[in-house]
Amino acid sequence: MANKLNRREFMAAGAAAITGVAVSDTASIVKAQAPTLALQRGVAPVVIASSNGHRYKNGGDVTCVELAFKMMTDGKDVLDSLIAGVNIVELDPDDTSVGFGGLPNADGVVQLDSSCMHGPKKRAGAVACIEGIRTPSLVAQKVMDLTDHHLLVGKGAQNFAKMMGFKIEDDLNTPRSRRLWMEWKRRTDPEHWLDPEKRLMAGFKAGMSMVADGLIDREHYFGTINCDGINSKGEICGVTTTSGLAWKIPGRVGDSPILGAGLYVEDKIGAAGSTGRGEANLYGLCSFLIVELMRQGKHPKDAGLEALRRIANNTIDKRLRDEKGQPNFQVIFYALNGKGEYAGTSMFPTKYAVCTEKGGELLDTATLFSAWPGRS
Ligand code: ASP
Repeated sequence: MANKLNRREFMAAGAAAITGVAVSDTASIVKAQAPTLALQRGVAPVVIASSNGHRYKNGGDVTCVELAFKMMTDGKDVLDSLIAGVNIVELDPDDTSVGFGGLPNADGVVQLDSSCMHGPKKRAGAVACIEGIRTPSLVAQKVMDLTDHHLLVGKGAQNFAKMMGFKIEDDLNTPRSRRLWMEWKRRTDPEHWLDPEKRLMAGFKAGMSMVADGLIDREHYFGTINCDGINSKGEICGVTTTSGLAWKIPGRVGDSPILGAGLYVEDKIGAAGSTGRGEANLYGLCSFLIVELMRQGKHPKDAGLEALRRIANNTIDKRLRDEKGQPNFQVIFYALNGKGEYAGTSMFPTKYAVCTEKGGELLDTATLFSAWPGRS
């Protein structure tokens, strides 16, 4: 990447900014060599995301976290950078959990949710159940920038997007998402209108059997992208975008577009976002909780684990627990604080994406439980 400090200069500048020693000397190095990394508060910039943020490239050369980090450290607005990053995943037909090619609802219609929050501007925007637009994160940003509202849903959100010049498509399914939906229909008990509980369980079991058969990977039955970043000035933003729970009841909205649940940002304090079973997260508004815990001084990892513990303790519904009494679903939190510390935390082992000056990588999350239900 052009205009970057080498690692030694970067560390020296960061240390000087933290200790206040020889600031003017270091500042001149920073100015001469890396105007975009003016480390006023000693924050090392970082972008974190769900693991799909470092898996998909939509036919290009870079992943979501790499692009967002590059744009951010080149001086672009943090939220613009993060949204450009998640656009890669929204547009990539191979990711069946986000945007174009996201797994559809029970009627076979792809309905998308997204939210974004701009820390320094203290503004947010979101859309839910929006159809026909590949990049709902960009519509959420327009809601934030151009309206007095936070959340537009369904047809209203689509009309708004149309007025803003977005292309509306009849169908965001890809051959793959349509094939998988048809397979789900085939496996679902056709006696849909019996006991609603049985119907829900039939759908869930059909989905899980497709996971077990390797047709969908577990991360994409649930699946979303959350991406959060902090630049060298300590400015923090975040975005979450998703096609939601696979084969959801039409109209269902998950945690992703709900502030405090799928995303929460407070500038200088931190950002948190989530993927996984949205209903579990919504009960505890866990992204808000995590940011509050970070405000009280908890490390992102401890804050995330505390939120997961709360979810686990609140999961009393039998169908949502395994034989050991543990939750039988995944929830993952991505969190960073105003010092640039970060963590991915989850109910069960998985990965999350990070990009720092060292480049993009996938890291293991810290987990509440060491093994997935039914696996030792
Ligand atoms: N959290 C999303 C939702 O509940 C789905 C996911 O991340 O898997 O809509």
